[in-house]
Amino acid sequence: MCGIVGAVAQRDVAEILINGLHRLEYRGYDSAGVAVVDPNHELHRVRCLGKVKALDEAVAVKPLIGGTGIAHTRWATHGEPSEANAHPHTSGNFAVVHNGIIENYISLKKKLESKGFEFISETDTEVIAHLFEYYYKGDIMDTMIKVINRVEGSYALGVLCVDYPDQFIAVRKASPMIVGLGDEENFIASDVTAILKHTRDIYYLEDNEIAVS
Ligand code: GLU
Repeated sequence: MCGIVGAVAQRDVAEILINGLHRLEYRGYDSAGVAVVDPNHELHRVRCLGKVKALDEAVAVKPLIGGTGIAHTRWATHGEPSEANAHPHTSGNFAVVHNGIIENYISLKKKLESKGFEFISETDTEVIAHLFEYYYKGDIMDTMIKVINRVEGSYALGVLCVDYPDQFIAVRKASPMIVGLGDEENFIASDVTAILKHTRDIYYLEDNEIAVS
């Protein structure tokens, strides 16, 4: 299990997210990624195999515009370390970062494939992105409840939906996740060090407690 950072603010959040990932580098990881949603409901994503520095370089060339975003450092449990397996994973309207292991992902994957979902990565996490798209009828809280009722295992999740460019939604079970409350900006992180620069007002999520920014 590695790192998650998320932010919603009145400014572009890519730099906040990538700086947060740098603060989590001490934990070790094999790949990294970041996704933001812009006010036009467009999702922008950058992923890389290797160091977070590669995200800095990619964003310096092509800035990520968007005030809501999620970022991840991965320690592979299912699927080799690669850019295709790096998080965030996407499906339709959604982008997802995940720390932990989805134990029933094989049966979920078979069901989703039978409904026409195509899997691009080798990760257990991709089932979560597709489950969000599968259950979504316009209400992200309702969708989150349906998804966590289907998955077994451990998870800290940060989720973006293009229909809600000013919100992220997060949950945890048996994997750490905190919420940070700032001045008109909010954060999530798997470890407080990732967001201490922005707020000291920290809330520790309980298992299956859902946070919406
Ligand atoms: N099980 C997921 C994967 O292999 C998440 C690993 C992690 O916690 O970084 O992609």
